[in-house]
This record gives sequence, structure tokens and C-alpha cells, in this order.
Amino acid sequence: MKTKSYAVASATKPLAPFNLERRIPGERDVQIEILFCGVCHSDVHTVRDEWHGTTYPCVPGHEIIGRVTSVGAQVKKFKAGDIAGVGCLVDSCRTCGNCEGHLEQFCEKGAIFTYNSPDKHSGGLTFGGYSESIVVDEAFVLSIPKNLDLAATAPLLCAGITTYSPLRHHGVTKGQKVGVVGLGGLGHMGVKLAKALGAHVVVFTTSLNKVEDALRLGADEVVHSKDEAAMKKHLNSFHFILDTVAAKHDINAYLILLRRDGNLTQVGVPSEALDLDVSSLIFGRRSLSGSLIGGLKETQEMLDFCGQHSITSDIELIPIQMINEAYDRLVKGDVKYRFVIDMASLKQAQ
Ligand SMILES: [Zn+2]
Ligand SMILES: [Zn+2]
Repeated sequence: MKTKSYAVASATKPLAPFNLERRIPGERDVQIEILFCGVCHSDVHTVRDEWHGTTYPCVPGHEIIGRVTSVGAQVKKFKAGDIAGVGCLVDSCRTCGNCEGHLEQFCEKGAIFTYNSPDKHSGGLTFGGYSESIVVDEAFVLSIPKNLDLAATAPLLCAGITTYSPLRHHGVTKGQKVGVVGLGGLGHMGVKLAKALGAHVVVFTTSLNKVEDALRLGADEVVHSKDEAAMKKHLNSFHFILDTVAAKHDINAYLILLRRDGNLTQVGVPSEALDLDVSSLIFGRRSLSGSLIGGLKETQEMLDFCGQHSITSDIELIPIQMINEAYDRLVKGDVKYRFVIDMASLKQAQ
């Protein structure tokens, strides 16, 4: 099926209209008309081949919300007319230990990501959500709580699960002290989710103009991370710190703020290696971890949690014709806090 989309033809070209082929839905497939698609920093990295693995043409987008238009004969969870979501994953082997443990993102045979991954159906690569429709196996389609604004829900599919998964894995709960480093697309979700889990939330930022926003988003305290005296007041006090910064920075300055057995999880991906002073781990038996999105089961749990707590992303809704300008602004950190594409704009004259 011919499907309108926006794609890039090479690392140096802008995104532009492109017709791609979607498969006819099979027995277990769900066909979704895409209503909204969030713009993730990974989209920019992939489009510009900053991670050195992009095949062109590339259609990015992995924060997808849409309406089901048809389902295969074996599909049980969805019917035409349902609102559904698709995140970063569209397939995996389903039989390895990680898949059986609901950690499809770590599939030992290689998870199939929503774009720029091998597509067994087409023999080419997967194409993402900057398109009018998508066809996905029901096992990788998510149910969306009815009470949430659909456009603002799209970023939960990547930014939401990326921050929710480590908070849950490290057992963040009521009464604990949680730090969030960086207040961007990921950080602002981390604040909302940690707060809803009952934590006392402290935001670390280098931009003093984000203080008011951090408090509005639910932070209990904001610390200017360049202020040594302010940092010192928090020594040995955090149960958990979520570090969302994707640039080179001093993680030791945060590790020493953890209490005994505290954990710092890095979810931002700096392009340069970070310097680690292991004594900041040894004293206090602290640990440093990473985390990558979440499996399907946990992503559904996160969406249901957001439904119960009325949590969505703060967004700026754009027509797809503004996508290249949005990328430039995203790179400069000039968005509060996530761009979401209104896919109805794709139907308009281009
Ligand atoms: Zn993403
Ligand atoms: Zn697997």
C-alpha cells in the first residue's frame, strides 16, 4: 500500500515528502492511521547519521498514536476504531531469554526497532511514524488510556518509558529522595513520573531560567549544578538519580550525592566517554547503571500508570511541514518539552 510520509535521502538532506510501501495487514497485524507522532532526539541522530548506522531513505518516528483502521483475523486485543500506540519496538524473536522475560528491547537476536531496522516482511528496513499509517504485529501495539490528551500522550511511548523503566527497576517509592539531572524531553517526564511514584524530587540544571518550570512540573527543589555549595548540601542523601544529560558532564559530582547503596542511572547518551572516579562508587557501595526504553509489558504498565495519574508530556504541536525547523530548535534545546507532529498536516498539499 502506498503511504505518504516524510523521509531523508541522506545525512545532509532535509526531511521531505516520500511515498513508502506498507504491507497488507497479515493475520496478526494491526493497521493504524497515525494521528500524532512525537519528535525524539534519536530521530535527529539517526536522520543525520550521528550514530553511524543509518540506511537511506529513512523515515523516523517512534512515538506513535493513532486509530486502528483494520485488524487481521487472529487479532484479539484491538478492533477498528480503537486508539492505539506504537513505541520504539515493532518486533523481536519472542523466544530468547530476554524476550521471555518481557525485555524485548534486549532481544538476543536483535530487537526490531520501529525505524531503520531490518524488516522481515519487506526485506528492506522498517519505516517509522512520520507517515500516514503503519502496520504492526498486535504483540507490539499498546492500548492508550481513554482520559489522556492524544497528542500529549505520544511522547510517553519513548520519553515516558525511558524514564519510567529505571525508576521502577530501582524501586523508587514513596518517601525516597530522587534526583533528575537535566530538564529536557526526558528530564521533564522523569520529574512527573518520580513525583507520581511518591518521591521527593530534586532537579539539577545548569539553566537558571528552568527553575520555575521545574517547580511547576512537580519538583520539590531545584539545584543549580554549577553552585558547589548548593550541591554540597545534598551529599550522601539520594536513593536514586536519573541522569538525562546527553553531553559530556561530571557524573562524579552526582555519584557522591547518592546515599549508601544508591544508584545513578544514565539514560542520556553523550557522544564522548564520561570520566568515572571509582572511589565515588566504592565509598557507599553506590552503583552506576544505564537503561534502554522498556519492554512491551512495562510500556503498557507505564501508559496505565500515566492514565491513573493523568500524566502526559508538555508539548508543542507542529505541522509536518515545520519538521526541519523543529530539528534545529530541538538541537538547541529550544522546546518545552517535546515536539509532536499533527499528522493531519501530511494530508494537506505539500
Ligand atoms: Zn526516542
Ligand atoms: Zn528475543
